[in-house]
Amino acid sequence: MTYRIPLSYNPINVLALSNVLNEYAGKHHNQIVTDFERALSTLVNVPHAVAVNSGTAAIHLALLAMGIGKGDVVIAPTFTYVATINPIMYVGATPVLIDCEPETWNMDPNLLKEAINSLKKRGVIPKAIMVVHTYGMPAKMEEIMTIASNEGIPIIEDAAESLGASYKGKLTGTMGGIGIYSFNNNKSITTYGGGALLTNNSQWAEKARFLASQARESQPYYEHKTVGFNYLMSPLNAAMGLCEIPFLTEKNESRRRIFSLYLKLLDSLGEFQKEDYERVSNRWLSTILFPKYSIKLLIISLLNKNSIETRPLWKPMHLQPLYCNMESYLSGMAENHFATGLCLPSCFENEKQQLEIVELIKGLHVK
Ligand SMILES: *Cc1c(COP(=O)(O)O)cnc(C)c1O
Repeated sequence: MTYRIPLSYNPINVLALSNVLNEYAGKHHNQIVTDFERALSTLVNVPHAVAVNSGTAAIHLALLAMGIGKGDVVIAPTFTYVATINPIMYVGATPVLIDCEPETWNMDPNLLKEAINSLKKRGVIPKAIMVVHTYGMPAKMEEIMTIASNEGIPIIEDAAESLGASYKGKLTGTMGGIGIYSFNNNKSITTYGGGALLTNNSQWAEKARFLASQARESQPYYEHKTVGFNYLMSPLNAAMGLCEIPFLTEKNESRRRIFSLYLKLLDSLGEFQKEDYERVSNRWLSTILFPKYSIKLLIISLLNKNSIETRPLWKPMHLQPLYCNMESYLSGMAENHFATGLCLPSCFENEKQQLEIVELIKGLHVK
């Protein structure tokens, strides 16, 4: 179904795309991918970038590059998109799920500590901590990184939604051992399918690139010793990425302005993800918690009737039939967010569209 006002939509910038493609007329198309990787690496100031065909593939490669596999445990948030967790299963490892905290809605450092202590008592040391910056809001990285480094556990940052967001001046996706981004259709910037893995560790980057290209050994013939994947990004997607990078700041600022207007006009009706002096969100999606489940339902149905797209916040992984048996450390917060929270449209053709949404919500006179 297409909505008159979609949640998050990136129209194809045909002019910018054809300009970029024209620059590569007469060059080898693989150069486009190499240049996109270089542009990304410059953008976030991390030396190694591997462009792949999805954010999910980037997470899979991150786990493999760190040597995580059968029987291993990876700690991850329960309040996230399923693509954070599925790759843990691809490698035969087991996720242990952690609830979120009230300020950023990301991994609760206290529950993380509790999980690690409880696993350690059973002789289990997690092989990685997967951190998500949900809806673009940086997680409590200082607390999480302190715990991780005290325990000697590497961090994988799933920054799929948070390109451009920062914590104490550091960009999300650049603080852990490996960071990943997604460029799928509805993310802040898009390649219409794509992702990237960024790291300071040249060995991890090399291993990821090797596995992403069918694990082909460097021989003059096809030589294979390992099961690999077909995960590299295509030149056309990379060309789209090169068009998008110059617009990242502008697009993020636009989403941030949209968030600020929701906050200003709807503050009395609900609760929002909080920034403070150390956390700057890219506001990929503007999200709101209403006081009651029934209010959320009313608003979804009203906006839907007006062809305006909304989505409930993530259904927590520990409530998914797929993952409900996984070990979880819970406070009830993710369940509450799922029950009462809503993602609102976060990019518009004009401000009138946003004011229409605000008026519809206010017109319900719920509190
Ligand atoms: C979008 C997303 C992914 C996966 O990215 P794809 O490019 O769609 O594979 C992973 N994690 C999170 C948190 C996401 O939002």
